[in-house]
Amino acid sequence: MIEEFDRLHGLPDGFFDLTTANIRNLFPNPTLIQLNGRNPEFLFISILLHGNEYSGLKVMQQILARHAHDLPRSIMLFIGNVRAAEMNLRFIPGQVDYNRCWPGHVLEPSPTSQMMQRVIEIAHGLPLFAAIDIHNNTGKNPHYACITDPTPQNQNLAARFNRVGMVFNHKGVCTMAFNGICPAATLECGLPGDADGIAHACRFIEDLLTLGELPHKTPTRHALHLVESHLTLNIPENISFEFDPGADVDLRFEPDFEDRNFTLFDPQQVFGYTRVERPLSVTDTDGHDVTDDIMRVEQGKIYLNNTLMPAMITRDKLVVRQDCLCHLLQDYIHHEVEL
Ligand SMILES: [Zn+2]
Repeated sequence: MIEEFDRLHGLPDGFFDLTTANIRNLFPNPTLIQLNGRNPEFLFISILLHGNEYSGLKVMQQILARHAHDLPRSIMLFIGNVRAAEMNLRFIPGQVDYNRCWPGHVLEPSPTSQMMQRVIEIAHGLPLFAAIDIHNNTGKNPHYACITDPTPQNQNLAARFNRVGMVFNHKGVCTMAFNGICPAATLECGLPGDADGIAHACRFIEDLLTLGELPHKTPTRHALHLVESHLTLNIPENISFEFDPGADVDLRFEPDFEDRNFTLFDPQQVFGYTRVERPLSVTDTDGHDVTDDIMRVEQGKIYLNNTLMPAMITRDKLVVRQDCLCHLLQDYIHHEVEL
């Protein structure tokens, strides 16, 4: 069984006034819209794979309003989880995550994964220029692009969005389904609806509508600082914490800790303060506890053992408990495949 999705060859009336709250008036199901432009090489753009991350809808409304009568390049637009968007949720409990079920996923096959498989088959049948998936995140983070395959062209694509880019490896993400087919990147555009993030993504997409070709030469470190995320930092359940160095709790951070997203912490800088021996736990992507390799406590102060970059720090205590405090990034190192 396949989840029902609609195919259109033009924008329906009312597209430019649409909000996520009323999105199903026009798009009752996920929808794939083919818009032919002067350059027949398509830009595939996916939005609302996470229903509450609505900046992508705003971006496409602005871009398409500007080019309503003369699109410089063909666009295949996929509008993803409209049911979750209507409810302002990432996904509805019981649904699969629409950005974890694209070809290459590791979940049980589902009607939604069948739909993504079909969408990819349709896209792969077209001449493709690039594929862009537009997202938002929580907390104060710069706008950045994520790529799953750090080819020179993908790195150049990421560098056009920001000088910091991330290599990520979640199985079943949309971007990964285009590896080997065309350059592909996921855009993280700050908080949902953030005006700067929308404007930034608009400039990026606008640029891709007229760009001739992405260079095949790896960008310099100056043009792109490529990082990767494989450490997750959690606060154990029994550890009390505050973002106030004077608080009477086990673990304390500076009040502006969130401003340290995407800044380097070196081994001499104080990461936090504590009165217990093991106030934090760090796990790698395999789930192994690597806390003692990564950090140390000296006289009530926490230090990292190597220079690392926190990202996606949240001060929301519920999110800290349910998800994590932050991730720790390091410079991307090309991993040779062991034969
Ligand atoms: Zn997302």
